[in-house]
Amino acid sequence: MYCGERFEPEALTVDHVQPRMRGGDRSGGNLVTACGGCNVRKGHLRLAEFLRSDEKARTHFFVLAAPHVWPRILRTLQEELDERC
Ligand SMILES: [Zn+2]
Repeated sequence: MYCGERFEPEALTVDHVQPRMRGGDRSGGNLVTACGGCNVRKGHLRLAEFLRSDEKARTHFFVLAAPHVWPRILRTLQEELDERC
């Protein structure tokens, strides 16, 4: 979802869009896949922080994830991104 490249399923990790500690659940609309490289780059950053620091990842995320992620979660994320511009 971040670099936009395609990988075999076993090369992917699963990321919560909204962290579980912030009320995110494990339903499909809250999960996206990331390759190992992107997962390492993201590290422990909150998704909004990572997307703010990485314009390409931000673009890919909103193009690729938007059809799959729950709209309310995308809204929350967008608000978080807009907060500190
Ligand atoms: Zn990647």
